[in-house]
Amino acid sequence: MGDCIFCKIIKGEIPSKKVYDDKDIFAFEDINPQSPVHILIVPKKHIAKSLDVTEKEKELIGSIFMVANRLAVERGIAESGFRLVVNCNRDSGQEVFHIHFHLLGGRKMKWPPG
Ligand code: AMP
Ligand code: ZN
Repeated sequence: MGDCIFCKIIKGEIPSKKVYDDKDIFAFEDINPQSPVHILIVPKKHIAKSLDVTEKEKELIGSIFMVANRLAVERGIAESGFRLVVNCNRDSGQEVFHIHFHLLGGRKMKWPPG
């Protein structure tokens, strides 16, 4: 997807602080962190938003949770707790239309979210 910022990050055309990379999944530090740990986990396949996930991506989406678990352990937030957030469309505040999972942790969070 030519003008997608996250596709460009995955291809290395835009720099990022990479924290994980395999054949299907890429993860990097959020440029504007909202908590001490704020990592974005993205499938390399361009899927615009969570509403577009289909049967074909079942395994891929499951793998993202496993990457999130691994990163949470690595960053020391597995036991203290963390949030895995996917925004979808306008009311959620989705800004980048390449599906991404926010891994947030390292501080006490409020519920309900703002
Ligand atoms: P969302 O509002 O769920 O679409 O989240 C988009 C996220 O991408 C925000 O948390 C931004 O800070 C983050 N972001 C945007 N551009 C970049 C970039 N070039 N590198 C890292 N994170 C970015
Ligand atoms: Zn993309």
